[in-house]
Amino acid sequence: MTIPALALNDGRSIPQLGFGVFKVDPAETERIVSEALEAGYRHIDTAAVYRNEEGVGRAIAASGIPRDELFVTTKLWNDRRGAAEARGAMGESLEKLGLSHVDLYLIHWPTPANGSPVETWETLGELRAEGLTTSIGVSNFDERFLPEILETGLVPAVDQIELHPQFQQRAATALAAEHRIAIEAWGPLGQGKVDYSAGAIGEIAERLGVTWAQVVIAWHLAAGRIVFPKSNRRERMEENLAAAAVQLSADDIAAIDALDQGAAGRVSADPAEVS
Ligand code: NAD
Repeated sequence: MTIPALALNDGRSIPQLGFGVFKVDPAETERIVSEALEAGYRHIDTAAVYRNEEGVGRAIAASGIPRDELFVTTKLWNDRRGAAEARGAMGESLEKLGLSHVDLYLIHWPTPANGSPVETWETLGELRAEGLTTSIGVSNFDERFLPEILETGLVPAVDQIELHPQFQQRAATALAAEHRIAIEAWGPLGQGKVDYSAGAIGEIAERLGVTWAQVVIAWHLAAGRIVFPKSNRRERMEENLAAAAVQLSADDIAAIDALDQGAAGRVSADPAEVS
């Protein structure tokens, strides 16, 4: 299975389809990530708060896959703000992952209640200059929070936001596009909280002889977004990876685009309320 690579605005490239480990039990992470690597995934998305960076690191070490063939993302948690905290947290993540650098380091949430993210963001720029992370970005910075980051002149390579057919984040994606910031869609399948097997997506899946999840993943890929659906089950890991080969027509894409419900389609937390 060939996974497309996407060019980032900092000259780097990222596998467009990866594997996310939110809610993967730390005790099971090594086994599950090892299976994902065996299935063919080369891009792993974790975070300090998932408490499973050690398992990700062990799976990577055991895989024998050359480091430069892997793309590893982790994220700075909300209680680590300011230069010293961000620097310390990055070191802790690298230690747990057993890596000398990650490929992408993100501020996990904007946390407006904790004050400006600017000092923290500029510290990520320094960490990149020092080679501890190859690219830097933000997560959950929608159109309300991205402008403050952009004012620093340090442009994120990616913005990782909740995005799926009923919540398409049109304002955030339009702002990101102006700055060539790639969108990483988290909860790309709706986190199992939306029945996407019915209606337009189900009809397309049936016609193409693929699954509803493959249709949704193919829709993200066609829009140029990066996705890393999560599954603990080997057959679904393979199913999701195989979505890279699913071709949707312009009409299929338009039918899924039409499912957007705006803010009413959100299934997880509003970044304005996360601290
Ligand atoms: P998701 O949309 O990937 O949904 C995961 C759920 O979908 C699984 O638990 C499983 O029940 C189901 N599923 C997976 N493959 C399926 C298939 N082929 N058929 C049917 N059901 C299937 O949601 P997610 O895990 O929350 O998001 C993906 C990744 O995004 C996470 O693992 C994490 O890496 C990242 N994420 C980031 C943030 C953030 O704040 N930055 C928040 C949530 C998730």
